[in-house]
Amino acid sequence: MRTQILDERKKSIIRKERGDCGGGGINCEAASVSGAVSQRACVYCGARVVLNPITDAFHLVHGPIGCASYTWDIRGSLTSGSTLFRQAFSTDLQERDIIFGGAEKLSAAIDEAMRIYRPKLIFVYATCIVGVIGDDVEAVCRQAEKKYGNRVVAVKAPGFAGHKAEGYRLAGNALMTLLKPHAAEPREKSINILGDYNLAGEMWIIKNYMREIGLPVISGFTGDASCDTLTQAPGASLNVVQCAGSMTHLARRMEEEFGIPWIKASFFGLEDATRAIMDIAEFFGDQAVRARAAALTQRESARAAAVVARCKPHFAGKKAAIFVGGGFKAISLIRQFTEMGIETVIVGAQTGKPEEYAVIAGLVNDDAVILDDANPAELEAFMKEKGADILVGGVKERPLAYKLGLAFCDHNHERKHPLAGYEGVVNFAREINLSINSPVWRHMRTSCRFSFGQPGERP
Ligand code: SF4
Repeated sequence: MRTQILDERKKSIIRKERGDCGGGGINCEAASVSGAVSQRACVYCGARVVLNPITDAFHLVHGPIGCASYTWDIRGSLTSGSTLFRQAFSTDLQERDIIFGGAEKLSAAIDEAMRIYRPKLIFVYATCIVGVIGDDVEAVCRQAEKKYGNRVVAVKAPGFAGHKAEGYRLAGNALMTLLKPHAAEPREKSINILGDYNLAGEMWIIKNYMREIGLPVISGFTGDASCDTLTQAPGASLNVVQCAGSMTHLARRMEEEFGIPWIKASFFGLEDATRAIMDIAEFFGDQAVRARAAALTQRESARAAAVVARCKPHFAGKKAAIFVGGGFKAISLIRQFTEMGIETVIVGAQTGKPEEYAVIAGLVNDDAVILDDANPAELEAFMKEKGADILVGGVKERPLAYKLGLAFCDHNHERKHPLAGYEGVVNFAREINLSINSPVWRHMRTSCRFSFGQPGERP
């Protein structure tokens, strides 16, 4: 079978074997091609994934009920405090509101929220149709702030105004409106973690490491964050950016406006987790912190490496495909698969950056396919061509893998056990081992009407 790649997409797909990487690199950070059915999420989704884990915030969607389906249920951030963020609220705009305007309905919804829940903080997400009809959402939020004295922050995020990365930028700006009144917080020897959403409790693992080496975490952005912890964040001495795609904008603004430096650090995989902890320790130039970090990384990496070594014989000859949100995470995953003895044959991201794709090109073999902003047809075609055994992705990629009779690992919102830190290395190796070697895939491929095709068959 030969799958047609749209001409407009060809510059966003590169293969080292064809020398594509030398000719100006991959086309990325561009609008999705109309009609290509991109795997990318919309602007509102980008903003919501970043802000939703703030546990005591009231997240109100001003739009049709469909946009509100994006809730905690598909992003299982855990909480050690309030559970308000787990509920979904919407103004549920109807035809009549769209004709005559929805501002009154929004105002009434905020009143109701204050009467019943009394939240310290409300985010109002204005979605596509509100961008079309032009409700003055900011004015409604300003009036509500005056009336109640609580923060009511407008996030004007119509899905059509770009793609997920624009939503990240809007979320960063919304967070800055919360932080700016607290810019004078006294500076402490402590850090903030940006871009960890406490999926399956991962933020708690990182906080435990930092506690052990003697560096308190003031606030997570935004995993297990609360209104109060966020407002103390300008007192940190360093911002550690784990998810670079979603948090680089906020980190840059915090550096420019509060003078807080930042570093990137990935806690996925043995090599990257160790480097992340040591880089954070090095930043403070404190011998005691450095010594504790070295002891922790040696102890924990030896423990996790032993589990990887036990699984490794079962990975011989296996091939992985990766399609995740950001390029920085894709880089860690390639390294992690290499540590496990698995070859990465396809790698892509929704919002990768040119410099990240350059690193990726240096990590994969010559015949690997690298693609930005992929669609299901492309992923399917390349997984067949390369004979991938497992797809690592998120909720939108899961059915694609299963329909093809391929193992799947959720490395995104729906993961149920932590994949970060050394605990994550152990969980990841065990999950990949169980999934990739399950006999179910062989039975599916022989009996399923969706033929997998032959490895090496080119689209
Ligand atoms: S694309 Fe528009 S309508 Fe669809 S979920 Fe995003 S904001 Fe809502």
